[in-house]
Amino acid sequence: MIYLDNAATTRPCDEAKAGVVKGLETFGNPSSLHSCGLEAELLVRDARQAVADSLSCLPEEVYFTSCATESSNTAIFGAYKSQGKRLHRVVTTTIEHPATARPMDELERLGVEVVRIAPDDNGEITPEAVMAAVNDDTFLVSIMMVNNETGALLPVDKIFSAVHRKFPKIITHCDCVQGYLKFPIKTKTLGADMISVSAHKICGPKGIGALYIRKGLHIPALLMGGGQEKAQRSGTESVPLICGFGEAVKKYSKDISKRLEKARALETKLLELCEKNGGIKLNFTGTKSPYVTSISVDGLKSEVLLHYLEKKDIFVSSGSACSKGKKSGVLAEFGISPADMDTTLRVSIGADTSEDDLIAFEAAICEAQQELARLK
Ligand code: PLP
Repeated sequence: MIYLDNAATTRPCDEAKAGVVKGLETFGNPSSLHSCGLEAELLVRDARQAVADSLSCLPEEVYFTSCATESSNTAIFGAYKSQGKRLHRVVTTTIEHPATARPMDELERLGVEVVRIAPDDNGEITPEAVMAAVNDDTFLVSIMMVNNETGALLPVDKIFSAVHRKFPKIITHCDCVQGYLKFPIKTKTLGADMISVSAHKICGPKGIGALYIRKGLHIPALLMGGGQEKAQRSGTESVPLICGFGEAVKKYSKDISKRLEKARALETKLLELCEKNGGIKLNFTGTKSPYVTSISVDGLKSEVLLHYLEKKDIFVSSGSACSKGKKSGVLAEFGISPADMDTTLRVSIGADTSEDDLIAFEAAICEAQQELARLK
């Protein structure tokens, strides 16, 4: 099996699986005062420390959530609850994942002025464009690090530092889901007050994510109840998932630069193969993450090709897994034509992708192209 859909989700690593089992066996409630509870509490503490180390922040700045979607909803609605009565504008982009875009739509419905910055002609969101949109009435800037459909790598550190230099009180949030443990992220350098990450994109289990909230920033909770996670996120902690997340984080916090180098070499190989093919176009060639590449295969509809490849045990996405069956508005924002959108495939590499996988992928596309030519 050749799995090239790692931006949708990843295969859990053995360490994460073992972590989940350990968390299941350590069945106490972390809030219980007896030793069963303490054992579970220690596992949660260990995972929290691992996530904190991976972001160079304090463990008390890390809150476990059920997924990055919940993290971003908490960040956005929390910022609104704390500031939205006094201030009225938020600034974001037109290329955000639905986990940010839909809460932004909801803020708009609630009367907030949502300014969405579109990529420029080079497909980039510049600090200048963001600065032109923020003003004294702005309470939140929420911008993603790596776009999940094209791999576009946004200059978020420069954007957030420009925002904070002029408006120190504006809350900044970064969806780092596709950048986490693929690029080194340090909270101080990134300059985001809040960061969303997800375990299932880093070979951890599904159903668990985290939200970093800078110490001192008060963000009202989305879920209220038993007061877990320092009342930031009530609900009994999922010790198995947290434990699995922690083990994946420990594994993939190491050698980020080495893996990035390998990903860049694979991206170069993929681009070479596309060029050699002649019928494959790259949809985004600006500053990007090597882990995600969007291509269009001339004359072959995405879904048809996706299922053709699937029969050969090769798995890719037709765009983003979240836009299943729907045309992606995000690709249009990058200036991709409707015809190219119809033939888009997203190739996203992971920890165990090899050059041979990419060679086999291109060879399978060649076969599909030849079959199509025969039919014509
Ligand atoms: N943000 C980005 C950029 C993503 O790619 C995804 C998942 O596809 C999410 C947020 C949502 O993550 P989760 O599945 O953990 O809710």
